[in-house]
Amino acid sequence: HPLSGDHSGWIEVICGGMFSGKSEELIRRIRRAKIARQKVAAFKPAIDDRYHQEAIASHNGLMADARPVKSASEIPGLLEENVDVVAIDEIQFFEPEIVDICQQLADQGKRVICAGLDQDFRGKPFGPTPVLLAVAEYVTKLQAICVKCGGPASRTQRLIDGRPAAIDDPVIQVGAKEQYEARCRHCHEVLR
Ligand code: ADP
Ligand code: ZN
Repeated sequence: HPLSGDHSGWIEVICGGMFSGKSEELIRRIRRAKIARQKVAAFKPAIDDRYHQEAIASHNGLMADARPVKSASEIPGLLEENVDVVAIDEIQFFEPEIVDICQQLADQGKRVICAGLDQDFRGKPFGPTPVLLAVAEYVTKLQAICVKCGGPASRTQRLIDGRPAAIDDPVIQVGAKEQYEARCRHCHEVLR
């Protein structure tokens, strides 16, 4: 069995902008692991989540069970014995310690699959994602479709009351009247 040897365990990261299909791809990998009768444990950050508290949900309606955690440090203690695959969604919202947690789990033989935004709404590297990209064995970078020009959308446009957000607006603004859309580098706008 490929996952039962001494040298099993690695980190996969699925990154990209909003609507690029990260959750869809994470759910696809979870489902295939389960078909292969591997034991999967899935987690997500316990942030103010308007919908689906206990699930990874994609914009096209797919779902997978996931346990919300306040900190990545909770994850090792929540793993039942013989878990083969640890899936973590929305990695950008975790503290930097998530990197060491993922490294430890991979060292212990787990297949660790992380998904999250690689850039914030300003186009800057987002939280721990860039560091996870550096230490991962496998990286998948997905593109959405730019809603302005139809090109590959690597970025997430943040709109507040229909206008592009400003560079100094906080990255996480719970409860604000805001909206996000997929845009390419050229159509992406940040007010300065
Ligand atoms: P992510 O986790 O990266 O935000 P999801 O997996 O939740 O992405 O959603 C991907 C789905 O979003 C696509 O399959 C498609 O149905 C839908 N979608 C909506 N807007 C777009 C867009 N501009 N480009 C690509 N997919 C889009
Ligand atoms: Zn564009």
